[in-house]
Amino acid sequence: MTQPVRSIDLHVHTDYSDGTLSPAQVVEYSIAQGLAAIAITDHDSVEAIPPALAAAVGRSVEVIPGIELSADDQGREIHILGLLIEWRSPLLQERLAALRAARRARILEMISRLNRRGIALNADDVLQLSSGDASLGRLHVARALCCRGIVGSIPEAFTRFIGSKGPCYVPHAAFSAQEAIALVRAVDGIPVLAHPGISLCDELISQMVVDGLRGIEIMHSEHSVQAQLRYTDIARAQGLLFSGGSDCHGTGKGAPRIGSVRVPYEYLEAMKRAKETGCRLHAP
Ligand code: AMP
Ligand code: ZN
Ligand code: FE
Ligand code: FE
Repeated sequence: MTQPVRSIDLHVHTDYSDGTLSPAQVVEYSIAQGLAAIAITDHDSVEAIPPALAAAVGRSVEVIPGIELSADDQGREIHILGLLIEWRSPLLQERLAALRAARRARILEMISRLNRRGIALNADDVLQLSSGDASLGRLHVARALCCRGIVGSIPEAFTRFIGSKGPCYVPHAAFSAQEAIALVRAVDGIPVLAHPGISLCDELISQMVVDGLRGIEIMHSEHSVQAQLRYTDIARAQGLLFSGGSDCHGTGKGAPRIGSVRVPYEYLEAMKRAKETGCRLHAP
């Protein structure tokens, strides 16, 4: 008898950043989807990893520690995933705490800009959608604008106000792709370029490879078939590992997407082998 195909999802957010599902709910949802492994990849936070690992003990899904870092190249956003990271690293935790503090200040600035345009949104409207030290992002602002009835949908919030060309947009604190890749490698992770079909930064990929990039997200819930083929070719040409995931934000972007992209388990095995054969660099 043939073995069932084992699928994984290497890009999942929780409510420790801008997802809406708790780590335990993410684990349950993944099991219901029949997934063999999921990577928890919150923006600038590894806080969901311990509860996700705890929820997966003795269960059929393996939890892979990960992160998603936002970098910038001359005004263009580039997201770097770090997979199989040593998430307990004090260096990492210190850097992430600083990035989260900068995120908080950035979100408060976006609220001020909305207020200056006559939009009555309070900081509390946004903060109540996240807890404690969670990593705040534009999706929290978009959800608060929806809750207040100021916009009718999440996409409308981005188009009218906080999208990168919107009047109330504030960029992230300066952090280059090179720095993001170095941080992932300093904690023994595999740096992966996230959703290149959204970031549209193809001409930067070869420099990122020189800087230590090791993988590329060829499969993503917002990649067309053409994008997937294109990035598969680029991965082969550049000697990059294949990655893939749903980029699930819970119900933050419609229905939960976990498992909507059936990524082969072999991608994870190749990453584990790559990690074993040494990608250790010096701390930045
Ligand atoms: P931030 O890290 O605060 O810049 O927020 C990034 C999050 O906003 C990511 O989850 C993006 O997928 C999401 N996002 C960016 N642009 C849009 C858009 N036009 N519509 C919906 N979500 C978006
Ligand atoms: Zn997000
Ligand atoms: Fe992203
Ligand atoms: Fe993401």
